[in-house]
Amino acid sequence: MRRLVVPLLVLAAGVLPAVAHDSDAISVARKIDFPKLLDGRAVLAVDLHTHSVFSDGSVWPDVRVEEAKRDGLFAMAVSEHLEYQPKAADIPHPDRNRSFEIARQAAEVKPTATGDNRNPLLVVNGAEITKAVMPPGHINAVFIQDANRLRSPDIQAQMQEANAQGAFVFWNHPYWTSQTPNGMAAMTPVHADFIRKGWLHGIEVANGADMSDEAFRIALDNNLTILGTSDIHGLIDWDYDLAGGGHRTATLVLAAAETADGVKAALRAGDTVAVYNDNLIGKPANVEAVVRASLKLEVDTALPRTSVVAVSVTNESPVDYILENLGPEAAYDEGHVFTVKSGASFTLLIKNVPDPSKLQLTFKVLNTYIAPREHLTVRLADATP
Ligand SMILES: [Zn+2]
Ligand SMILES: [Zn+2]
Repeated sequence: MRRLVVPLLVLAAGVLPAVAHDSDAISVARKIDFPKLLDGRAVLAVDLHTHSVFSDGSVWPDVRVEEAKRDGLFAMAVSEHLEYQPKAADIPHPDRNRSFEIARQAAEVKPTATGDNRNPLLVVNGAEITKAVMPPGHINAVFIQDANRLRSPDIQAQMQEANAQGAFVFWNHPYWTSQTPNGMAAMTPVHADFIRKGWLHGIEVANGADMSDEAFRIALDNNLTILGTSDIHGLIDWDYDLAGGGHRTATLVLAAAETADGVKAALRAGDTVAVYNDNLIGKPANVEAVVRASLKLEVDTALPRTSVVAVSVTNESPVDYILENLGPEAAYDEGHVFTVKSGASFTLLIKNVPDPSKLQLTFKVLNTYIAPREHLTVRLADATP
């Protein structure tokens, strides 16, 4: 007998294995729903970069809202291009807050709501400053008061106004090949000046289907908040393999309070982890906090007349974790790399354990990044009471 425990244990918490085959299972698996941190903070999924027909997106804002609710987001920012309005002749909207207003009303939970439309969603007003060349390229201002007052040909005036409105401001896709042909994000004097003035607070290290080591390095070197966003223009269902367990590119906000102010405070403090293709990207302490909240170790007693011990690793998060056992403890029945699927347990036998009560295992978590090309290492002990 190699297995003491059924390896795919479906948790009572309602998290299903990532590979879902029917619509109910997909609707659970697509949710970016992480357990609370061990220090009690909430892990709130937000997408701070989206488009609708009010700029160059393909859907009415209520569709954006319903997608966000299906994905279990706590907050979604409406961030239409200020300067790029290819549909203005068909959909004139002199008030640039109109998209936000429609989304905010759509997000209100109606008494007749069913399914995921019963989920609350914080809709955040935002705008994408859209300059034709880098620098400054594209910059999102979210938690703004009035998008109309951000309209200006002068980027300095726009940045000043966004900050006067109390916005959280971040550099979008700094590696986008339309403006950065070699695909390599690089700091510019313009952005360095914004950072010096306190006007620029974050940077996308992942946007839609792309991620950037260079943007991640810029974030770490300049203490910018690390963000992942969908920058969705079409449909989330088209761009992500939701049936295969995928999730939209988004940001986890590690928030002390589950409110708009709580999200803003955590964004300002840099307490975030970007989710990209089910990789977790962030500062070491933030990634470690999310991983420690997600993975639970349970050590069994030794098999009869042996010092071989069954250990279960349970994953309470919506992403699969790919673990490399760094040892020195070694498995009797597994290679040193294995995957613990979302919402499942993986059991392995650890050999030559003198005292199971003292057993700890050291894992490199291969689907995490704490610096470019560098993965988190954690040492886990039995967490069962
Ligand atoms: Zn953009
Ligand atoms: Zn955009």
